[in-house]
Amino acid sequence: MMDLNLSHIPVNKPGVPQKVKMLIIGSGPAGLTAALYAARADLEPVVLSGLELGGQVSLTYIVENYPGFPDGVGGGQMVELFQKQAEKFGARIEYDTATAVDLSVRPFRVQAYNNEYLADTLIVSTGATPRHLNVAGEKELTGRGVSYCATCDGWFFKEKDVVVVGGGDSALEEGLFLTRYAKSVTIVHRRDQLRAGPILEKRARENPKVKFIWNTVIAEILGKDAVQSVRLHDLVTDECYDHPADGVFIFIGHDPNTQLFEGQLDMDERGYLKVDPLHRTNVPGVFVAGEAGDPHYRQVVTSAGMGAAAAMSAGRFLDENVGYVD
Ligand code: NAP
Repeated sequence: MMDLNLSHIPVNKPGVPQKVKMLIIGSGPAGLTAALYAARADLEPVVLSGLELGGQVSLTYIVENYPGFPDGVGGGQMVELFQKQAEKFGARIEYDTATAVDLSVRPFRVQAYNNEYLADTLIVSTGATPRHLNVAGEKELTGRGVSYCATCDGWFFKEKDVVVVGGGDSALEEGLFLTRYAKSVTIVHRRDQLRAGPILEKRARENPKVKFIWNTVIAEILGKDAVQSVRLHDLVTDECYDHPADGVFIFIGHDPNTQLFEGQLDMDERGYLKVDPLHRTNVPGVFVAGEAGDPHYRQVVTSAGMGAAAAMSAGRFLDENVGYVD
């Protein structure tokens, strides 16, 4: 086993801000890849994991489109491999979440629950969060039949009837995963055409447990202590009717986790951070990787690529502006 000497990385001292060359906020594929590249450039990066190490991919059952894994790889296993590789070269992962940032000072100040950091450069890789339907019953019944993660909650729906909302890759992929447990999976989509790719569409259409309800939205989720049914609104006939269901899985896209940077980093009207081709933001020294700045691709492989690119740009920034040699 390799003996790692991490003595160059300062240990936490409560109440004393910790000075770091590079702080990476977020530990999805973008953040962990940035950490790998920065660590190999001797920049001693520190990663704030956020609530879920690995981000969204850690909750994905299987990733089938990341090169190098012809048989697919479990989302959790993939995160472990990313983490192991980054740590092998000296990256440090802190199980902590950033709560406030001040980008008007140098070094940048970042407050997390357990520590305060002073960072010469920052990589924002905070990812995105599943979008909510915002209908009556959704909030009250979350965790009681309403879910945003089939991998986490599918097991609770053995031999049950579940509804999946959405027509994108996530809805179909997660819906197909749910067929392992559920008696039936009814996909409710607001249009009559799927947004998902043809491979997933073919698999879903050929699966006898999967049914589709087209041109329909969920108007309300009903149930007292647990989900019992959904009120559906047929957008063609304008009729509403109740459809029995034990579970409702919602996969209608994501919103970027960028609230922390409001008023400090430029973002578009949906909250995605504005980045140039070198992954720079409007604040010199702050870089972005992954879904926080990417409304287009949102793949593990593209996020990882952005992480590598952001770390290289940040390394160049440190070299030119702070005098670290990479
Ligand atoms: P998405 O592609 O944005 O699809 C969201 C779906 O939800 C769309 O069908 C949309 O309907 C529907 N929707 C949005 N708001 C809604 C609302 N308020 N009520 C009802 N339906 C609503 O999101 P995603 O499926 O999460 O995928 C995100 C990205 O990750 C995509 O780029 C996708 O390709 C990628 N991804 C890839 C894989 C894979 O390659 N295996 C797996 C998962 C995700 P409309 O179609 O009418 O807009």
